[in-house]
Amino acid sequence: MGESTAEFAAAISAGDRRSLARAITLVESTRSDHRSDALELLELLAPKSGDALRVAISGTPGVGKSTFIEMFGKHVIDDGQSIAVLAIDPSSTLSGGSILGDKTRMETLTRRRQAFIRPSPSGGTLGGVAARTREAMLLCEAAGFDVVVVETVGVGQSETMAAQMTDMFVLLLAPGGGDELQGIKRGIMELADLILVNKADGDLTTVAARAVSEYRMALQLIRPRSEHWTVPVATCSALNDVGVAEGLRIIRDYESRMHTHGEIARRRSGQARAWMDAEINDVLGSKFRADPKVQKYLESIETSVLDGSLPPTTAAQRLLELFFNPT
Ligand code: GDP
Repeated sequence: MGESTAEFAAAISAGDRRSLARAITLVESTRSDHRSDALELLELLAPKSGDALRVAISGTPGVGKSTFIEMFGKHVIDDGQSIAVLAIDPSSTLSGGSILGDKTRMETLTRRRQAFIRPSPSGGTLGGVAARTREAMLLCEAAGFDVVVVETVGVGQSETMAAQMTDMFVLLLAPGGGDELQGIKRGIMELADLILVNKADGDLTTVAARAVSEYRMALQLIRPRSEHWTVPVATCSALNDVGVAEGLRIIRDYESRMHTHGEIARRRSGQARAWMDAEINDVLGSKFRADPKVQKYLESIETSVLDGSLPPTTAAQRLLELFFNPT
């Protein structure tokens, strides 16, 4: 009964939307039988993935990410290409509630045949959610999407994870200027390959222009991510569709330059290794914590560490001993 994994894979690579959506649900499942089916599917589709341009788009809630992606998607489609939008939303991992998923988003884009939009999986750890988003990205690539956007809220660790699965990191900022700059963590500026100051319209036009020069100055203090690329800072108005096409042009320019220098391939292989390591750590960590012997002593050893009677290293050593040499 039912289709084989090979048939499932074939339907996805033929571009069937419903199969793609089902496959993403499968990779998001935590059930162990689902997990092994998902891994089999991903392995079958691996040769078909990797052709898309992977773009992270990050920014604080309200900066205009949905509005921007909606317009950006339209330009990608006008260029004759297709676009998939996935999300990593740290709020969805805590409560199941979500900053990115609650409202109706990107309504026009959702209706386009050349677009596929998927909200962030909820529940689990942020690392787990990010790992599943990465797998969803590979599935979208196998289904033939030309551009995959990973959208993330500019808070916490989610943007680092988005940067670790994409070729380019686009940071959307509000036209707040100096005050705004104070609030932006240096870490997130360091990830950026392109900065767009959104809402450069109406009363905010001049403030936005000033913000651009401030961000440019701030960038001079940051070590560039690549010697072949100077991070551009530009304005846009996603609402009025001004500067969005130019943003896409910059992204294309980045893509071709980085390809020429082999940097996209280099970045991807570094990322692949990091994801493998993370997966190993994840699986080992959860097996360790689920181990009955470890569980038996974990609490008392932890208490001794907390009250200072046992050094953390010794505690870790004892627990690991129980796990690896259970005699
Ligand atoms: P997100 O939370 O980052 O996805 O932000 P949204 O795309 O939902 O936008 C938040 C609010 O800002 C909405 O009311 C948008 O209409 C508005 N907005 C988005 N882009 C622009 C823009 O370019 N100019 C102006 N004036 N408002 C915008």
